[in-house]
Amino acid sequence: MTSLDALVVGAGPAGITAAMYLARSGCSVALCERLTSGGQMLMTAALENYPGFPEGIKGYELADRMAAHLDGLAVERLTGDVQALAGKAPDFTATVDGRPVPCRTLLVCTGAKHRPLGVPDEERLVGRGVSYCAVCDGNFFRGRRVAVVGGGNSAMEEALYLSKIAAEVTLIHRRDEFRGAKLYLQRLESMPGKVVILRSSVVTALHGESDLTGITVRNVATGEERQIPMDGLFVYVGSAPETAYLPPELERDDRGFIVTDTEMRTSVPGIFAAGDIRSKNCRQVITAAGDGATAAHAAFLFLERV
Ligand SMILES: Cc1cc2nc3c(=O)[nH]c(=O)nc-3n(C[C@H](O)[C@H](O)[C@H](O)COP(=O)(O)OP(=O)(O)OC[C@H]3O[C@@H](n4cnc5c(N)ncnc54)[C@H](O)[C@@H]3O)c2cc1C
Repeated sequence: MTSLDALVVGAGPAGITAAMYLARSGCSVALCERLTSGGQMLMTAALENYPGFPEGIKGYELADRMAAHLDGLAVERLTGDVQALAGKAPDFTATVDGRPVPCRTLLVCTGAKHRPLGVPDEERLVGRGVSYCAVCDGNFFRGRRVAVVGGGNSAMEEALYLSKIAAEVTLIHRRDEFRGAKLYLQRLESMPGKVVILRSSVVTALHGESDLTGITVRNVATGEERQIPMDGLFVYVGSAPETAYLPPELERDDRGFIVTDTEMRTSVPGIFAAGDIRSKNCRQVITAAGDGATAAHAAFLFLERV
């Protein structure tokens, strides 16, 4: 089997951009995705901060547009789960759903997935009121009561999205100050009858036999606990990197994200990382795409030398 110049793992914005740049550089490249192209963009109602779309763009639409950019380019599309990586540059072998895929370099763009809230009964109630994706599940809660947990942009964006669907949205954040954009907070605060904001509060228990019927919220400042009737709970409390298939010697930070230099080179020669999987502060579509371009260029330069 001929070895690819580059195997890009994950078809979110980082992976799509990396594959595009590599193909345009004349490298033989395959883009491997376990699900559908788009990554977390498919879980995003609308993006208001992607340059070129001042009116905003729906997440799935941006995903479609990015994926379409690969049409006509020599990018081999592989569907499957990358399960393991063996060897060293320029003789890596990735295992994709049990099949070996030889490659000279690997671009790790597998992003991150949601962290659970970590309260009892959460797993049991997933799909029965507990969700991590408002775009996917919001419609089930039309005209009903929902809570959103989190204090960053994702939580606030999705609370705004749900405010157009649900009867009432309760936004619960464990701190007093929100991390996300002030603009989102102002919009949420401007809907007092529709959006309730509980600061310095944590969800401590979920209630309901077959479906979620309520949550217990504790005010961390006063210690006061109360039970609130609730039909849906949307959790946005951060994300964890998708790195299980990568060798242990690849340097990670204390939260498991991959450490790179500014050129997206990891601690293992020939392996590059881009997007949310990297150890960095700003995890957005635009930064993922930028990382993808940088990683592709670095891989191209690496291939010229080996
Ligand atoms: C609710 C929500 C709202 C958001 N809102 C915004 C916003 O308004 N603006 C903004 O800029 N950003 C937003 N973001 C963040 C943005 O979506 C991410 O920063 C961006 O998608 C990261 O891109 P990525 O390519 O690094 O990874 P991802 O988008 O996570 O893509 C990774 C891909 O890798 C695939 N994959 C994982 N493991 C494997 C494997 N082993 N084998 C094969 N494939 C694999 C996954 O299926 C996925 O398709 C939001 C995120 C969420 C969850």
